[in-house]
Amino acid sequence: MVALVTGASRGIGRACAIRLAESGYDVAVNYNSNEAKAAEVVAEIEKLGRKAAAYKADTADLKAVQGMFREVQKEFGQLDVLVNNAGVVDDAYLLMINEDSLSRSLDINIKGYFHCAQQAALKMMSKKHGKIINISSVSSVLAVEGQGVYSATKGAVNSMTATLAKELAPRGITVNAVAPGFIETEMMDAIPEDKKAEYIKAIPMGKFGSAADVANTVAALCSEAFDYVTGQVIVLDGGLSL
Ligand code: NAP
Repeated sequence: MVALVTGASRGIGRACAIRLAESGYDVAVNYNSNEAKAAEVVAEIEKLGRKAAAYKADTADLKAVQGMFREVQKEFGQLDVLVNNAGVVDDAYLLMINEDSLSRSLDINIKGYFHCAQQAALKMMSKKHGKIINISSVSSVLAVEGQGVYSATKGAVNSMTATLAKELAPRGITVNAVAPGFIETEMMDAIPEDKKAEYIKAIPMGKFGSAADVANTVAALCSEAFDYVTGQVIVLDGGLSL
């Protein structure tokens, strides 16, 4: 079984790539800029006795994504799972939103997911088998000041998940999303410590999640236990959105 995880050089993507390898998948590790970190993930997976290779591609760039899927097909011969994870956050209040940042967020967080889902579906359709997992965010269902752009992109991920699930169900492909709350990765480094303490108080479980928490949910969705589940958004936030 083969999985491709986008944005797998660090954070949640890295954890998903390694967790899927532990579940028996060979893994294509996508990254955008950090070749050395992606190579470390490949080495970790190989240590687990699975095959892995790193692929540089900006998911916002359709041609680069097409090239990556061609290379993955050549190297691995099949694709069973796509984890659409590569994403960016660039918080700004409405009047401070910058045009370049807005375009980049829409291009990576929305277009990038479509690019990869399209290429994955092309491969999976022929075998009438496959799973696509989109990493969304609790910000898709919870209003967080300053996250207008980010939450709009993640809302798009949720609606795309439902539509693609309906379109691809007759082709044997399931599409689900995981919507994490606060997960301790480098993405959270920009949040000041006093703000972090405030957020923890708002989480009923009283702690942030880990990348491993998200990876375990993704691995569960990829298992047979979830074969009849499609179009769902699983919120993983310690109760934050309740
Ligand atoms: P992160 O630590 O910032 O890592 C982002 C990863 O995405 C890196 O591997 C980066 O690769 C890659 N990436 C960024 N832009 C890319 C592009 N255009 N093409 C290919 N790869 C790209 O982020 P994270 O916290 O792990 O978040 C991963 C996903 O979870 C995102 O979709 C995010 O929205 C979602 N999420 C995170 C949290 C959280 O609290 N952390 C909560 C909810 C949802 P390079 O380093 O190689 O450039």
